[in-house]
Order: sequence, then structure tokens, then C-alpha cells
Amino acid sequence: MGARPLSNKFLRGVGASSGVITGRAFLVDRSKLRLPQKKIDSAHVGREVDRFLKAIQQSRQQLKEIKEKILDPGVRHHAFILDVHLMILDDEMLIENTLDTIRKKKVNAEWALDLTLEKLDAAFHAIEDEYLKERRNDLQYVSGRIFRNLLGKKHDDITRIRGNVIVVARDLSPADTIQMNLNHVAGFITDLGGKISHTAILARSLNIPAVVGLEVATSLVNGGDLLIIDGETGEVVINPTQEISRSFLERKRRIRLLEREALKYASLPAETRDGVRIRLQANVEMPEELSVLKQYGAEGVGLYRTEILYLNRETLPDEEEHYQAYRKLVEGIYPALATIRTLDIGGDKFLPNYPKGNEANPAMGLRAIRFSLKEEEIFKVQLRGILRASVHGNLRIMFPMISGIEEIRQAKGVLEEVKKELLRSKIPFNSEIKIGAMIEIPSASITADVLAREVDFFSIGTNDLIQYALAIDRVNELVSYLYEPLHPAILRIIRGVVRAGEQQGIPVAICGEMAFEPAYVMILMGLGLQEFSMKPSSIPKVKKMLRMSRFEETRDLAEEAFRCSTAAEIETYVRGWMAERFPDIYIPPYGRKVKA
Ligand code: PEP
Ligand code: MG
Repeated sequence: MGARPLSNKFLRGVGASSGVITGRAFLVDRSKLRLPQKKIDSAHVGREVDRFLKAIQQSRQQLKEIKEKILDPGVRHHAFILDVHLMILDDEMLIENTLDTIRKKKVNAEWALDLTLEKLDAAFHAIEDEYLKERRNDLQYVSGRIFRNLLGKKHDDITRIRGNVIVVARDLSPADTIQMNLNHVAGFITDLGGKISHTAILARSLNIPAVVGLEVATSLVNGGDLLIIDGETGEVVINPTQEISRSFLERKRRIRLLEREALKYASLPAETRDGVRIRLQANVEMPEELSVLKQYGAEGVGLYRTEILYLNRETLPDEEEHYQAYRKLVEGIYPALATIRTLDIGGDKFLPNYPKGNEANPAMGLRAIRFSLKEEEIFKVQLRGILRASVHGNLRIMFPMISGIEEIRQAKGVLEEVKKELLRSKIPFNSEIKIGAMIEIPSASITADVLAREVDFFSIGTNDLIQYALAIDRVNELVSYLYEPLHPAILRIIRGVVRAGEQQGIPVAICGEMAFEPAYVMILMGLGLQEFSMKPSSIPKVKKMLRMSRFEETRDLAEEAFRCSTAAEIETYVRGWMAERFPDIYIPPYGRKVKA
């Protein structure tokens, strides 16, 4: 934690979720505490045992209180994680081992607990304790709490956050983000993470301004510091001067004004001036987002991320839960179409009760469709839920991380089995349900012409496509500057996929983050894309701009982009193009350095 109060200190990270805000820093301190290591004499063993047991008791009490205070039903649903923490506090190995160490080694409670944790850490690898092995992070979190109680230090419960604060943390998991009492958090900044990490995506979906990948935020910021964060540019100012404050707030005012004005376009058709109809759909990952789709003028859901149903809970969702969730979705947006993506677990999202294994490269590991095909029963439960919901509205199924035709065939095979089971049980479903593949792995894009014969639609997932095509880990802040949506390779890949779709007569949508930056949308339209899925709040501004454009001119824009040889050149060109056409409403992100 920072000790010296800084003044007007600028930091630059990765803008993860737009919005310019000011607020007081609330430090979520998960850094390693300095633990006193003391040898004790026999007379003090009893005292250390008592201290340890008291710290356990306090921790238990605190967790119970936090749990009781979660009022938000949406957050409450995920409160099981606190039960897991309470169970760890009862773990015999943790308690007995520590008490034993105090007694036998004659060391203070902090040291004894640390030694126990070292042992348990080894156990994670040696698979001695299955229960704890799967909960290494939880164990760290709980032990941090015990240590703090032993040391009489304050806690940093995300769930307790009140007021207009900016959370400052080394990292936040999607689970942390869910645990925040969202109504009270103005924004967050983290040392780790990249723009396309799931935590960042969650922040964007919830419209919480966020900057990630700052590397040093937790070491420079003190609790209570005044912060300004620009979630678009990635800039953070610690204790800004009044002048700096004013210019930031002016930008904030402009963005807000433009967003409010754009709302007028929400209910108008997404149509270019030369009459080309574009479909603007919404990406949805939290059920709460459904309520705002109409307000933003979304024409259906182009990507329903189903992971949220599986995360932050101890058991897997059953068929009924799936069915109810998807039914609510399709009924809520009827008659528009919902695209339900099957589970995309792995990468940076893990099932709480599934041993992670020792994957060196989880992004290239047992993720998404690979997981579903390996864990066929889990897959079938979800497919049954989706099929049952299909009679209540319009939905289609999308498989994530398809790398080649065998996976599609296999996935379709499982779907056929599930259909047969439902038929046998006389459970109704839409037998004509459409099947699509996400194109987010280079091998899929290269063989798009072949894949197009097996599916009814494609949706290009640029978040992963860029990651895999450019070899840029989407959650690694050290290489986030290389994450370039306008890289000539990416534009060529997208053009190839669009052409393959056209040749086979199947629609091609795009649902990665790239689809909500207006300048990128213009190029993508020029490449022939007419179906976009994006975070709901971006729809009005994109709609406004495309209604002011001609489809033909976007073709020229794309052509010009293909004449450039670097992402920077393309970016410069497209920004100039945007500034010329939309002088009053285009606010370029200043995240990338662009030559004038
Ligand atoms: C993508 O990869 O572009 C995508 C939309 O999927 P996710 O971000 O959920 O991996
Ligand atoms: Mg993806």
C-alpha cells in the first residue's frame, strides 16, 4: 500500500470500461502481509493458541455478517462463495496443523499458520486434500482474513463497500466483480488484467468505469486518495489539481451529453443513408441487463454468455435452471431472436468445483466446446434446457471456440441425441433450431468455407480471434499494447470469413468487443458485415453514426484500410475519416498513439 500521498500523479493503464469519474480510493489490499515470526517459550503456548482460535472465531463472525448483509437478490444468488470460506475456517487440517505447530515448534500463531499454508500449498500439488486443492484462491483469501485478525488490521470486504468509491485492487476476479455491491461502486482500477479479460467485460456490461493493467496502482494509491479515472483512455490521476480535474470533467460532460443525445436514435431503424439495413444486437451476460435492451434499441441478443449460470456457486445448474433462464430471455425479447452460446468455461473462467488441472496455457487448454465435449453430461443438461426453452420464443444455439469441422459435427451429434431423448419423453422443442459456430480461432477462420456447410450462421468473436491470431494473451497487461483490432491480419481474416459466409449463403455476425467502437463498425460494414452484437449501451451511438453514413462509403473506407500496412496507419486513417464525417459527435479514444 502506498505510504506517501502523491499529488497530481498520472498513471496509464488499459481503459477497460468507459466513463470518466472521480471518487475516493477504496483499497482492496490482498498484498502479502508482513508476518511477525517469533519463537515463544512454553509459558506462552496457551496464549498463542487462544489468539489463533480467537482469530478464527472473528473471521467466522465477519463472514457471517457479510453474508447477511447482501441484500441485492442478484448478488445473493452468488453468496455461496462465502459458505465455501466458512467451510475452510472449519477445516481440520488448517486448524489442527496450526495448533500443533504452535505447540510443538513453539512459534507464534502467525508463523504457525504460515507454515501450515506452505504445507497446504504443497498439498495442492500433491493432491493430498481434494477439497482444499480446488480452492487455493479461497484458502488464500480466508487466510488473509485470519492474518488480519491476528494482526488487528482492517478488512477490505468488497461486499461492504459503501459510497462513491473507486475500488483499487491488484486484481479482481469476475467473482469479485459480482460480489461488489454494484450500486455503491463508482468504478475500479487494478494492477493486473487486460481490456478483454472477463472482469473488464463484466464492468462494461454493468457500465462501471474501469481501468486495468496499471501495474503499480496498489503500491501508489492510498486509501482515501482522490482519484480521477478515464475508463476509455486508461488514464488515472491520483490527487489531481483543480485544473486537471476540470478538463477531465469537461470530457465526461461531453461524453454524457452525446450518449444522452444518441438515445433519441435508439428506437429508429439501424439503416444507412443509402438504405442498407444493419442489425444491431446486444451481448448479454448478466440477467439484469435484459431490462435495458429495449431502451437501447437492441434488435435481439447476438451473444448470450451462459457462464454466469455456472460461476460463483458450488453445484452445477440443473436442467430446470437452464430452462428457466433461457425461457426468461426468449420471452423477454420476443419476437426478437436470442443467440444462446453454450458454456465457454476455461481460459480465465473456471467452474468452482472442477479441478483446474495444471494447465500451463488455459486459454489454449480445455476451454469452451472442448470442455463441453469432454464433459458430455454437463453439455447435455445445458442443451436440454435450451431446447426446452426454444418453444417459448425465437432462439438459436451457438458453439464457442470451434477449431474445426469435427467439433461441430460432434457437438451437433450430442444435440441430436438430446433431441431424441426429448422426443422419447414427449417434451416439446423447436426441431428446426438453428446452429451456429463462433469464429474465434484462426483455424476456423481459414476453413470457414468448409465450416459454413455445417452450420446455419457464423458469429466472429474478435476478442479471442485477435488473441489467437496475434498471439496476444487477452489478460496479459504486458502485451495489451499489441492487441490491435485493426491489424491488417485481423481485417483480412474477417474479410475471408464474410466471403465464406456469402458464398455458402449463411449470415455472418460479429460479437467481439470490436463491434462496439463506431470507427471499427464503419470498417466492418465496409467488409460486408451487417449484423453486429455489442454491449447494449453502445447501440444508440453506433446507430446514430451509421444512420448518418452511406454503406458505399464504408466500402471505400475498408478498401483504403487494406492499402495500409500497419494497424497504426489504419487507425490514423479511420480516425481522420470519422472526425471528418462526424466532427461534433465522434470522440476518439486516446488509448493508442496515432500520428496526426
Ligand atoms: C470473443 O471471443 O470475441 C467473444 C465474444 O467471446 P468471449 O469474449 O466470451 O470469449
Ligand atoms: Mg471468445
